[in-house]
Amino acid sequence: MSEVLAVSPHLDDAVLSAGGRIAELTGAGHRVTVFTVFAGLAAGPYSPVARRFHEEWGFAGDPVPHRRAEDLRALSWLGADPVHGAFLDAIYRTDPFGHWIVSGVPTEHVTRDEKELTSRISETVRALIESLRPGLLLTCASVGDHVDHIHTCEAVQTAAATTGVRLQLWTDLPYAKLPSRSLPDGLAARIGAHSPQPYLLSEHAWRAKLRAVGEYASQHAMFWPGVADIDHVMHQQAAGLGSVFGYVGPCEVLWEPAAGRCD
Ligand code: ZN
Repeated sequence: MSEVLAVSPHLDDAVLSAGGRIAELTGAGHRVTVFTVFAGLAAGPYSPVARRFHEEWGFAGDPVPHRRAEDLRALSWLGADPVHGAFLDAIYRTDPFGHWIVSGVPTEHVTRDEKELTSRISETVRALIESLRPGLLLTCASVGDHVDHIHTCEAVQTAAATTGVRLQLWTDLPYAKLPSRSLPDGLAARIGAHSPQPYLLSEHAWRAKLRAVGEYASQHAMFWPGVADIDHVMHQQAAGLGSVFGYVGPCEVLWEPAAGRCD
């Protein structure tokens, strides 16, 4: 039995993108810790974008405690241990001049220039690596260009390079345009990841993932607007991805980058 550390940008990403893989790992006796970076409590005041999201999620006041509770329930289906980070989600951050980082949707952020933040995240991840001593590190490939996913990918790649831990990057769901055997060109070059590692999921792991995703109820309408049967949509996507790699059944894809990339 060995340790695995999964670093998730937000309270749902690890499960949405690699929940099946995590269930397989815990089922095989590995201990998986999911550290969610941007899970810091957000007392307000809130930007117009944050207020819009809160309304969509159905929460009044700080939604983070509710979202943390969803995450605890979700990870319990996968047998993984949660650690919630104190960094603020992009929708709650301001630049040095006091302007909101995100003024529209989070992929249309004002600035990616938050080097100090990225380096603090990297230090935090490195401390976790030193305390947990994982044999495998998982994080996002940052498909979709969300600013928080880009920071997470970069910070974890830096921490992995300095500690020598094996790293795999998951295909960010539901943002990736699937089915596809490849990452967008610019992204593959930026993160140094060109070879996909597809994982066909067992029935047990797939069911556990569906139950876990089901716990993030506040996010469902945002990810799948107007969709009544989320399990069906997820299965179509995951099975479509499997078929691209010659598998029959739901699949998740991770990428093993060349060390020291993501620049
Ligand atoms: Zn996210």
